[in-house]
Parts: sequence; C-alpha cells; structure tokens
Amino acid sequence: MSGPQQPELTADGKPLLSFCSNDYLGLANDAGNIEALKQALPETGLGGAASHLVCGHHEAHHQLEERLAAFTRRSSALFFSTGYMANMGVISALVGRGDTVFSDKLNHASIVDGCILSRARMRRYAHGDVATLETMLANTDGHKVVVTDGVFSMDGDVAPLRELARVCREQGALLVVDDAHGLGVLGPQGRGSVLEAGLSEEEVPVLIGTLGKAVGTSGAFVAGPEWLTEYLVQKARTYIYTTAMPPALAVATCASLDRIESDDAPREHLNQLIADFRSGAGRLGYELMPSKTPIQPIMIGDNHTALALSRALEAQGLLVTAIRPPTVPVGQARLRVTLSAAHTTDQLKQLLAALSKARHLVEETPEEALQ
Ligand SMILES: *Cc1c(COP(=O)(O)O)cnc(C)c1O
Repeated sequence: MSGPQQPELTADGKPLLSFCSNDYLGLANDAGNIEALKQALPETGLGGAASHLVCGHHEAHHQLEERLAAFTRRSSALFFSTGYMANMGVISALVGRGDTVFSDKLNHASIVDGCILSRARMRRYAHGDVATLETMLANTDGHKVVVTDGVFSMDGDVAPLRELARVCREQGALLVVDDAHGLGVLGPQGRGSVLEAGLSEEEVPVLIGTLGKAVGTSGAFVAGPEWLTEYLVQKARTYIYTTAMPPALAVATCASLDRIESDDAPREHLNQLIADFRSGAGRLGYELMPSKTPIQPIMIGDNHTALALSRALEAQGLLVTAIRPPTVPVGQARLRVTLSAAHTTDQLKQLLAALSKARHLVEETPEEALQ
C-alpha cells in the first residue's frame, strides 16, 4: 500500500476501493487527528525512548489513560502499546499455574496466546455457549477467569455479555472483555459493547480496548478498578518490558476520542451502510452472518471459492480479503467485508454491483440445506 489508509487505497500503484480495514469511523486519516499529532510533536518530541517504569511515562500517556477511563466509565486505565500486548500481559498477570481460564472458542489469537503464556489450565467453551460455561465453572474449584471478545473479529457478532456477567458473578469468576471491535462503534457515544449492555465496572472488572481500529491511531488499554491497574503496572510483563509509544500519538488519540464522543453522525451513517449492505447482499443470495456491526462476513465454506470471489472483486477494482483457516475454523472460509463511516453510499453500491457480477462463482445453497 502507499498513501493513507482510507477506502480509496493504492496497492502496488493501482487504485483499489477497500472493504477490509478496521478503520470503522474513517479516523485513521482524519485531518483533525493529524493536526493534533503535528501540534504535539514540538512539545513532546518523537520517540518514547524508554519503558514506562524507567522514564518513558510521559504526561501525555497519563492524560490519555485518564481520558480512556472516563470514556469507558471506569475508575482507571492503563495504556499498552498494542492489543496483542495487552491481552498477553493482562491474562498472564491475572491467572497462573493452578488457576483456570475459560475462553470462547472464537476468541482472538492474542487471547489464546495470553492464556497459553499464563500456564493456567485453559478450557475453551463453544462460541457464546453460556449454559455450558456455567456448568464448567460450577465444576471447577480455585481461581477462575472468563475471557471473551466483545465483538468477534471474524464473525461480527456480539458476545452475550449480560449473561456472561451474571454467570461470572454467580460462579465467582472474574470477567475479562476484549472490546477491540466494539469501541467507537457500539454503545452510547461509541463507548463500546460493554456500555451498550449497561454493564458496570463491578460486572465487567477487566475491560480491554484497542486504539488501532475505530479510534484510528495505535495502542490499547485495560480499564477497570484501581486495584487492577495498580497490580498490572507491577505484574504485566508486556507493559513493563517494552518502550512507551511516542507520546504525540497519545495526544492524537485523545483528539480522536473527542471526535468519537461528540459526533453521532458517522455512526448513524455507518449503521445505514450496514443495513443497506445486509439487504443488498441478502437479496443477491449471499450467506450473511448474524452481525449488526461493521464486520459483515460473507460465508463461503471452501478456501478455493473464497479466493476466487476475492480475485473476481479485485478484477473489478475492489479489495475484500478472503479469510481462511487457521484464522477461522476449517470449512468456514469467508470474505470478511468491513464497512466504514468513510464509505459513501455510492461506494457501497459499487460493492453490491461487483458482488452481483461475481455471484455465479458461489454455488446456490440448496433450499433443503436452509431448512
Ligand atoms: C485486533 C485485535 C487485537 C489486537 O490489537 P492490536 O492493537 O492490533 O495488537 C486484540 N483483540 C482483538 C479481539 C482484536 O480484534
């Protein structure tokens, strides 16, 4: 790619209209955020230069943490350099040998890796299956942590958060929600899936968010009670042993959060695009998934067909990547279409027209199979 991240991409010098980034609000190339970064640079300098605990913790990082805590309605927040690092660090700090961590089967790879790193016993439950989880929890003694994506990254559906919170409370387990794809998009003023579900800090004590998706910059955070962030400062090795992100990026991220909070119009436009895509692609006979989020996968099944469809779209100037195992289960290859508030209604029409032309590549699902 060359040029900024936006729907009109330049790939190997060729223009392509992209429907596969996680820049759900079009803030990755927002003029206001870029200006905030530029203005911060002379004051903060460029590099992070050291880890937070040595001398890298700049007041801009501190202000971002306070901003993130307020945004998610939590008592405190701790900033990490990436979501991958946040999950690795938080999970391995919260559970260890002799403990049990329960993880949804479709959780993000960084959660799985965090569980493995922790050396706790990992028990995976079928996707969204709260009843089974409840039984597993009831039959397990000791320290228990349940971890889930808020919005599942490859399916776009939202976790049954209220049910998970109830079961965790009843079974004495700590609930961790990774809202990488909900933050900025769902909930009042884009505060995420946890606030959309109306869940307090007591009900979801550990809330993880990432800043490289809808927020449009880079980094991640964990938000929750003071005891949690204080503990993680001492225990999360991916927080301790890494260089602080350039502080100017923290300033730009605060600017981006201001935008997200103060303007509902981009989310309304995005929701309209989502509704139009679902009715349009559904009418063409494509198999969609139960998602209300900007992640709108078209389920294909076999890798070969998914790739053929992706290539047919590319030939028409559209970039939609085929997602195959091991990112998704075997036999569930798909086209992961993602929508952004930066897409125009016309651009969505282009996508639907291209999907219509390529429809013959995907076999008709027999009526009986749909029953
Ligand atoms: C993208 C993603 C991450 C990783 O975040 P980065 O900041 O990109 O490292 C973590 N969890 C989920 C659910 C994600 O989708």
